[in-house]
Amino acid sequence: MAVQTIAENTTSSVDLGPAAALSCRECGERFELGPLFACASCFGPLEVAYDLPAGSPEELKKRIEAGPNNIWRYAPLLPVPADVAEKPNINPGFTKLVKADNLARELDVTGGLYVKDDSGNPTHSFKDRVVAIAVEAARAFGFTTLSCSSTGNLAGAVGAAAARAGLRSCVFIPHDLEQGKVVMAAVYGGELVGIEGNYDDVNRFCSELIGDPLGEGWGFVNVNLRPYYGEGSKTLAYEICEQLGWKLPDQIVIPIASGSQLTKIDKGFQELIKLGLVEDRPYKIFGAQAEGCSPVSAAFKAGHDVVRPQKPNTIAKSLAIGNPADGPYVLDIARRTGGAVDDVNDEQVVDAIKLLARTEGIFGETAGGVTLGVTKKLIEAGVIDPTLTTVVLNTGDGLKTLDAVSATSQATATIKPSLGAFRAAGLASA
Ligand SMILES: *Cc1c(COP(=O)(O)O)cnc(C)c1O
Ligand SMILES: [Zn+2]
Repeated sequence: MAVQTIAENTTSSVDLGPAAALSCRECGERFELGPLFACASCFGPLEVAYDLPAGSPEELKKRIEAGPNNIWRYAPLLPVPADVAEKPNINPGFTKLVKADNLARELDVTGGLYVKDDSGNPTHSFKDRVVAIAVEAARAFGFTTLSCSSTGNLAGAVGAAAARAGLRSCVFIPHDLEQGKVVMAAVYGGELVGIEGNYDDVNRFCSELIGDPLGEGWGFVNVNLRPYYGEGSKTLAYEICEQLGWKLPDQIVIPIASGSQLTKIDKGFQELIKLGLVEDRPYKIFGAQAEGCSPVSAAFKAGHDVVRPQKPNTIAKSLAIGNPADGPYVLDIARRTGGAVDDVNDEQVVDAIKLLARTEGIFGETAGGVTLGVTKKLIEAGVIDPTLTTVVLNTGDGLKTLDAVSATSQATATIKPSLGAFRAAGLASA
């Protein structure tokens, strides 16, 4: 197979910093670093294994705190070369952790409520984190075209990162995405291909392309570079803990599309514990889905270990993956940590987008609405403890999903430019 030939030719010269090997999440077998994503023995997913830095936690903390205000401050814990900060990359991360006191009052949360606002990344979603890492892997393996199957945000992140890194990009999306996502994916000048089908069709198509000479030399960030890509989500765990004063949150609510982000945030927390950077205390991980695409939530509620695929139908298009690759691992993590997975309908998504905007001045995309909607639901159900520290992720920018709220977010009044007209509109303070 083309993919394996590339791996054999390039592994000897690969420098991805502390990344030592790929290891199978199912059987533990190890493989040399390369553009591989499935175990040759058992077909299980591969993940990056590290030689984590030696030395005292205090030294490592100091080194991190002295680093740049982006994800490269955590380079010693990521599969990237030591000089990564000097290379052309989009440098995402170190987004705001907003203490959401107004929202906390509204939801009767007393233990501290925070919104990690990843709309502040270069292309306005959390996807910049994963793509920035995948770019370094693509460079290391000698790929010249960057590609992906995307629900929208990933296509934009790949387009921007490829432009900055001087790589060609050709990305694939379902043909019926929001205008904001289509334009964001196209504006950076790469190729953008709409596929007549849903995300799961796009993903299947990309898997075929990888095995075909047509896709030779292409780095698909979420397929053959997936083990590296996934590691980018760990930076959310690192940042949240650092921003809380090197402490784990008690509870965190994370949206689920493929489930990669949720599993890697857990991996990030575990690494910080192992390195002694945070105190080893229990934390609970909650997963959020939209009702119209809730295969993981359905499995969680039914007590199943397997995730039965669904056909997505929801306004939360960035989360519309009906057959999530990491679904079973999400179930394990929610159960192991004492968390849960739940879902909300589209109306609750819209309400939650507006709640976050109204209380904290943060305009999240539909995925943010899903996450806050599920948070609210689980607080009301007594599943999330309001007396404990809780972090809610907003993973994207509402400007990309305007349609979700445009019907109910319009001018209060349209008037002639005169004081009389303004008085007549009934909006004056006195
Ligand atoms: C991709 C995406 C996610 C989650 O993706 P996973 O596949 O579960 O890692 C969450 N929010 C937004 C806005 C996204 O674009
Ligand atoms: Zn295996």
